[in-house]
Amino acid sequence: MVAATLPGKATHQHTRAFNQQLVLRAVYDHSSISRAEIARQTGLTRTSVSDLVGDLLREGLVEESGRGPSNGGKAPILLRVAADSRHIIGLDLGESAFSGVVVNLRGQVVRSLRLPLEGRDGEAALDLVIELVQALRADSQRNLLGVGIGAPGLIDSDRGVVRWAVNLDWTELALGPLLEERFGLPVVVGNDSQVAALAELTFFRRPRPQNLVVLRIGRGVGAGVILNGQLFQGDGYGAGEIGHVAVDGLTGRCRCGSVGCLETVASMRALVAMASQGSPEVVDEASLFSSFAAGDGTAREVALGAARHVGRAIAGLVGALSVRHVLIVGPVAGLGQPWLEEVRSTVRQSSLPVLATETRIDFGHVSDDIVALGASAMVMTNELGLSLVR
Ligand SMILES: [Zn+2]
Repeated sequence: MVAATLPGKATHQHTRAFNQQLVLRAVYDHSSISRAEIARQTGLTRTSVSDLVGDLLREGLVEESGRGPSNGGKAPILLRVAADSRHIIGLDLGESAFSGVVVNLRGQVVRSLRLPLEGRDGEAALDLVIELVQALRADSQRNLLGVGIGAPGLIDSDRGVVRWAVNLDWTELALGPLLEERFGLPVVVGNDSQVAALAELTFFRRPRPQNLVVLRIGRGVGAGVILNGQLFQGDGYGAGEIGHVAVDGLTGRCRCGSVGCLETVASMRALVAMASQGSPEVVDEASLFSSFAAGDGTAREVALGAARHVGRAIAGLVGALSVRHVLIVGPVAGLGQPWLEEVRSTVRQSSLPVLATETRIDFGHVSDDIVALGASAMVMTNELGLSLVR
């Protein structure tokens, strides 16, 4: 890695702030690290690193964590991120409930809260968001870095505007600015599947992959795309919106208004609805998982059919992006390895062989909080500059 340079006119202060982010990122990406190793990895001089580490120690973001092994001389002092020096509020605006967490810099959940939506939308749903932030903030003892929100639909993250969220009946809602004004904290808003990808990148994957696709299958189907170490949202912020791409031969009406979307056969809601028609014992996700595991004919047909549709969608992404890491997250992981194997074999059949053999498809981190964690990661990325390109 080479010393960082800023594009365009770089003032001394800009350079310093940028280099400080480089140092913080190096510390963040290791459980502990010495100053000499930071210098080696960032390309900065040892004097600069000592200086910048001094600032981070004073700000409390970094702390000393003992001594590392000596290679001849004095054993080096190790540094690590002071995980609890800052806390972040992350929200997941889900279909049946809005849930929120307070997490530390390592994504460890300090507190969580879930408020049922009970059919609210529009103004009433917005009030529920405010209630949730208020409750989580009231209990937070630490320095709060900000509030991150993962919401369904099309989100303009640069402006914090929900352009369109069909279930919540929100269009062009300036959610971020509205909450910033109210709470006096930085607020970022992102699409739920996109921020789930950030959760994987920030908290769960080491070494940090440069490129990654995270497909989330729950109430809907969507993907988050990480390219060159950063969340890629695309020109219209809809990168990864594969759930509403029509699939040949499908005729079901989708909640988005179109016909034949991938979501109509691959979302958890669709799977439960289809399986329950042939198997009366399937009434919810849990009974679908047990029927599938027990070899129930309808459950298998429906779930494996969805796996093939998902596999073809992944093959499309792999063909377009040549990404080697694909993770699948969300409740669908309850179908387990046999389902995943069907996805993998479809990807192999539908891709250029050389690309398919180099692509790893796995389940990601299993957590009900993955969207809320990802929303928190988005705040960290923005406030601490952890998404620097190598
Ligand atoms: Zn649709």
